[in-house]
Amino acid sequence: MSEVLFKVLIIGDPTVGKTSFVQRYVNNSYRRDYKMTIGVDFALKVIKWSDNQNIKLQLWDIAGQERFTSMTRVYYKDAHACIVMFDLTQRTTFQNVVKWKKDLDTKCTLKDGSFVPCLLLANKCDLSNRDVEQGEIEEMCKEHDFVGWTETSVKENLMIEESMRFLIEEMMTKH
Ligand code: GDP
Ligand code: MG
Repeated sequence: MSEVLFKVLIIGDPTVGKTSFVQRYVNNSYRRDYKMTIGVDFALKVIKWSDNQNIKLQLWDIAGQERFTSMTRVYYKDAHACIVMFDLTQRTTFQNVVKWKKDLDTKCTLKDGSFVPCLLLANKCDLSNRDVEQGEIEEMCKEHDFVGWTETSVKENLMIEESMRFLIEEMMTKH
């Protein structure tokens, strides 16, 4: 049995759903009340990937108020993959995706010097008051070198498991 440890970052503006995403993925739970993350939250999930392969995922849920400060460099260190999340109903959180991606890429790379694979998640797709068009997300994804994007709803448990699976596959091919 071999085991590999991956560090995955979840970054993005406050209230987009980062903490909820981790709770959903790790505990399959969801809370409506908002509890602000201070500093960083960790979560660990062990996945039986195949008969002889376990994956230990360490999820780093970084508080939004820490953004673009010198602290992020410490959080980003030795990351294997990243999720940049925004809220489909809050346009500013989409605009700030570029800043998050640049913050990461200027402070952290993989051991071979390449950029950390980043998945773009458009969360809260259960809500009807959308503020961002699909075409714009597609463009953002291409222009800023994300490995992919998808809409998610942590609330309705849409595309959470699938997104993580996609990211794990990315990490396994680079591993
Ligand atoms: P964070 O600041 O990025 O960690 O955001 P949180 O995970 O704390 O979520 C902020 C608020 O958005 C909370 O009230 C959540 O219940 C809510 N939320 C998170 N994901 C979704 C979603 O997919 N749909 C809806 N409607 N609300 C969500
Ligand atoms: Mg949080």
